[in-house]
Amino acid sequence: MRVSGVPGGTELAGRAGGETLHFVPGADADAVAESFAAVPIDARDSLGIEVQCTTDDRTDTLAAWFAPARGEYPVERLRVAPSFGRPPDSVLAARVRRESERAAEVATRSHETPRLWEEPFVRPRASRITSGYGRGREYNGTITSRHMGTDFAGAPGAPVRAANRGVVRIVDAFFYGGNVVYLDHGTGLTSAYLHLSTQRVAVGDTVERGQLIGTVGATGRVTGPHLHLIVRYGAVTVDPLSLFSLAGDSTETGRARPE
Ligand SMILES: [Zn+2]
Repeated sequence: MRVSGVPGGTELAGRAGGETLHFVPGADADAVAESFAAVPIDARDSLGIEVQCTTDDRTDTLAAWFAPARGEYPVERLRVAPSFGRPPDSVLAARVRRESERAAEVATRSHETPRLWEEPFVRPRASRITSGYGRGREYNGTITSRHMGTDFAGAPGAPVRAANRGVVRIVDAFFYGGNVVYLDHGTGLTSAYLHLSTQRVAVGDTVERGQLIGTVGATGRVTGPHLHLIVRYGAVTVDPLSLFSLAGDSTETGRARPE
């Protein structure tokens, strides 16, 4: 989101949809400040936005409401190994819950990390997208959920690259995600890379945009080898492609590294 008509020396802060906003000066115009903001996929009501502008000793608060457009998402029916196609037992459910809590903590704590990148976000693979964000999913005819990420094609061992500069927060083997790497880019933005065959980074590493962080695999709940990419703004999972297009998708202009 953008705020225009911002006098020099003004500090901007705020929240949208319950997530903290982090403003930076706009790239192309004076007196404009920009922040990422995210709309949950199942948002039914309008999204509340509040911005505080502080100049010297005076703070003005602006409040606004934004009505998000509803997306249209198709349903896919998938066959996976039987152990992934039925509801988990209590032990497994506890494991899955712990794993998703760790992922959620990385996502929300990213608001406390300073912005670690300068360049636009790039796709982690230059390959074809095999399944988009938001699709409804039915596993073995029973479990249904939404596809909360973007799938990129790839043979086992093909490179997976960091979408931007960031700090590695999780390198582990998750039940559904298989071998995972979670990156914290700061100011609320995180990305996660699932189903990897190998992980080439360690927790605490700072990785550069486009750095090799792992390789495509078929670990966790999959129908075959691919990369599943998740992007979050705070606790809100967003369409990864929206991040690339917001930031100027350099993949489409041919600047992505070849395989
Ligand atoms: Zn996926």
